[in-house]
Amino acid sequence: MEHFWSNCLGYIQNRISKQTFSTWFKPTRLVSLSKEDAVISVPNKFFKDWIVENYTDIIQEALSHFLKNDVRATIVERNNLPSINPEKSSKQKDDHELFNKESSQSLSRQTLNLHPKYTFGSFVVGNSNKFAAAAATAVSNNPGTCYNPLFIYGGAGLGKTHLLNAIGHQILKKNSNCKLHLIYAEEFMNALINSIRYKKITEFKEKYRNIDVLLIDDIQFIAGKERTQEEFFHTFNALYENHKQIAITSDKFPNQIPGLEERLRSRFSSGLIADIQPPELEMKVAIIERKAMENNISITPEVAMYISSNVSSNIRELEGLLIRIGAFSSINNLEIDIDLTKRVLKDLLLDVHREISVDDVLNCVSSYFQIKVSDLKSHKRFQTFAYPRQIAMYLARTITGSSYAEIGAKFGGKDHSTIIHAVRKIEKGKQNNTKLASTLNAIMEEIKKSVYKV
Ligand code: ADP
Ligand code: MG
Repeated sequence: MEHFWSNCLGYIQNRISKQTFSTWFKPTRLVSLSKEDAVISVPNKFFKDWIVENYTDIIQEALSHFLKNDVRATIVERNNLPSINPEKSSKQKDDHELFNKESSQSLSRQTLNLHPKYTFGSFVVGNSNKFAAAAATAVSNNPGTCYNPLFIYGGAGLGKTHLLNAIGHQILKKNSNCKLHLIYAEEFMNALINSIRYKKITEFKEKYRNIDVLLIDDIQFIAGKERTQEEFFHTFNALYENHKQIAITSDKFPNQIPGLEERLRSRFSSGLIADIQPPELEMKVAIIERKAMENNISITPEVAMYISSNVSSNIRELEGLLIRIGAFSSINNLEIDIDLTKRVLKDLLLDVHREISVDDVLNCVSSYFQIKVSDLKSHKRFQTFAYPRQIAMYLARTITGSSYAEIGAKFGGKDHSTIIHAVRKIEKGKQNNTKLASTLNAIMEEIKKSVYKV
């Protein structure tokens, strides 16, 4: 295999520049190969993202050239390798994985679900997340006893999954025998569906009810899915009654997850609820500096400050930008200074600064609250409509910069004084109502996602 891969590398080397080759291809390894699939490992996420984005084609071309067959290349991070079984293709792996002789032993193997890098050590704590971080630490040190369940909520890319993984690592560090399971709510649903399909529902129940710690990510996903909610409810109760720790993340506060059953809502609210807010500037700088260090990218404080002040609060995005800057500098063999940073970010930022319209706001607010745009524009006074309407007016004013009159027109011909009233009300409410503040953030993230496609 090694020999085969060095042939492929030779092929690639002849087609790209020396600098590019030594930066990106020297550290690659072929970890598995079949007639149609090849898995190539790279040192970290930074490499993975860049190679997937830029060199998948040439890798596939090289593989196909030597194998005389169409080959699909999968790039993986070396750190994540233990969870990949080189004997099987990833597709085979997914199919029945959950029900192949499930035992507590195979369950403990699943702790490999934990992301190796998402630990407390790599989690930067600041004002916006210190409460959630402290709660997560407390739970890790005394699982099942202090806060149960722990419910962490916050906008996209703010570190919920990271914290959930950190809890897992910390618990296992103290007690490696602990049967701990981290699962995305979506996976939980898929596993349930498979168990029904393959008539393995008893195994499913046993599996999830016989663990010590359940960490469940993005619970909002099960909203509206009745059967999954029901099964989750029973799993929850079984674990809870046996004093097993449960930690849950969500992009919304329990009461604001539309389509979530009341009984789950009240269970989720019965422990400790901790929010994560978007980071302020100083914290963004600290995070960028930390990520730069982790990825061996050297940047000056000015560059960290520049990036932090020009991009949104989504930490995932921040990281993505940093990676691009690092890649650009390494390919061109240039130091990262403000000019280079501006150059790399220019296209992206231009793109990002396409104007958000009042219609974008209306669409996102309506889908967030699951009401019609026409209700937002209407004069109906029920709280179900009036509150989202005021939020939409506030966001329209703060994000789009349209005049009060323009916004009034877009809201079914309302007077500018109505808009002013709504904006003031929400502005004031946001000061001492953290739930409202986080709702506003969550909707902002949705708007950005829908407009910028990030
Ligand atoms: P969420 O689950 O809230 O959408 P993630 O936990 O996936 O967000 O975080 C997105 C990225 O940002 C991850 O790479 C994570 O490591 C990083 N991140 C988020 N918050 C922090 C933090 N406080 N310190 C360090 N990295 C963070
Ligand atoms: Mg997440």
